[in-house]
Amino acid sequence: MTETTIFTGFDLAERLKQNIKMRIDALGRQPRCNLFLDSRNAGASAYAQRLAGSAASVGIDMVMREYAGSAGELRRQLQEEADAVMTLFPMPDFIDRNEVAALIGAERDVDGQHPLNAGKLALGIVGYRAAATARACVLVMSEIMGSLKGLRVVVVGASPVVGRPLALMLLEKEATVTVCHVATVDLASHTREADVIISATGVAGLIRADHIREGAVLLDVGIVRTEKGLVGDIDLDSVQGKAAVVTHVPDGVGPVTTACLLENIVAAAEARS
Ligand code: NAD
Repeated sequence: MTETTIFTGFDLAERLKQNIKMRIDALGRQPRCNLFLDSRNAGASAYAQRLAGSAASVGIDMVMREYAGSAGELRRQLQEEADAVMTLFPMPDFIDRNEVAALIGAERDVDGQHPLNAGKLALGIVGYRAAATARACVLVMSEIMGSLKGLRVVVVGASPVVGRPLALMLLEKEATVTVCHVATVDLASHTREADVIISATGVAGLIRADHIREGAVLLDVGIVRTEKGLVGDIDLDSVQGKAAVVTHVPDGVGPVTTACLLENIVAAAEARS
């Protein structure tokens, strides 16, 4: 029987935010990020409020903007003056995501979604703007385990926002990486081999005790709204007593992701100065 520790990301996020404040002091001006959302969506609205609060706490001006009702007007909005631009889901379906990325540009991208940033990561070229959640996972893993060199890591979920950039960042750290997804046959046969499992699917309770080895470290990126409140991909009751560490949902990877987004906004402002 293993004693299971629940990891929260507040301490790590606070250290990152202290560093962000120092960088803003050195910059000598307030970075500005335009944050686009559909405020009729309760989840997006609540997330935007939390982001704006965190941004204000470090001295970033986060300007909330409602998506325009037409493609022409949205194109104009996305090109308005700002150091950085963030677009929350759900996005209007009358504009293509690639066009949105092009209008924002690689320099103002805060989540590694511009092809130039994603391409640099894929090719191992330094200086890319990182996908924030993926970077947060690497930082959380390093915090828990130190060096990632040689660790067997299974990433469950292969989205462009989390799983794919995360797999590439883990390769940079010399981990041995397996990526699983919805079409993976016998998921447990992969995850049982892992020292670390990072799950980012949005499928509540997907990872249970029979998916893990004794003493595994589990990072839960999933956030699912249920009648019982927010839950993750990992069935906590099931893995308690077998996993060494499980990250809290939503306070494990979540606060660190927010700090990484703020870091990216500051980097965008620094690049223009
Ligand atoms: P997505 O829907 O774009 O991708 C989901 C991925 O999971 C896909 O690659 C799919 O193949 C895989 N998948 C789905 N069902 C599966 C199954 N049964 N077995 C194995 N793989 C399966 O989602 P996303 O945008 O990457 O987000 C994933 C989750 O992470 C969501 O719950 C989201 O809310 C959460 N999220 C959390 C943070 C954070 O900071 N904690 C940040 C971003 C997203």
